[in-house]
Amino acid sequence: MSIFEELIKLDETGNIRFTRWIEWRHRSIGLIHCSTCVALDKCWFLDMKKPKHPQHNNCHCYMVQIPTPNCDNTKAECPLDKFTGYIFADKYSWNGKRKLYETLGFTIEDATYLKKEYEHQAQAEYCKGNYQLGKLDSRGQRINIDIKFMRNNRQIVFTSGWMVRAKGLITNNTPL
Ligand SMILES: [Zn+2]
Repeated sequence: MSIFEELIKLDETGNIRFTRWIEWRHRSIGLIHCSTCVALDKCWFLDMKKPKHPQHNNCHCYMVQIPTPNCDNTKAECPLDKFTGYIFADKYSWNGKRKLYETLGFTIEDATYLKKEYEHQAQAEYCKGNYQLGKLDSRGQRINIDIKFMRNNRQIVFTSGWMVRAKGLITNNTPL
């Protein structure tokens, strides 16, 4: 397989997708210290779906091309508390999210299942580059990933929010 063939793939809809991945590298020169750039250091992105570069005047960050991430070198972490302490917690029931999960037949008893399912799906989608860039600030780059459930032969999609961390790790901010 040529290098070019490795860099392009057909997605599920038959569209050509460029799959070059990069690792963001922060480099501080002189007195300039940008906390947003520091938060991006060693984070992995699809080259065509990465934060704006350069971030600012005198941004010395640079990109290093990396192999396409896979399930062995990436990790998605979704704290159980996102379900037990947020989605299914009484004090947040006003936001209507619990109702949506209950419509799918989920209760707080399913928190462990949901945590694992979110981690499994998010990791797989991240590796495929199936994410959308969200807000970027000094805490990091947020991405949105679709989590899919089947209910009565219908696919239900929940858009979940994640933070990109260094070296292939993403952590869940909000399940829905
Ligand atoms: Zn920078």
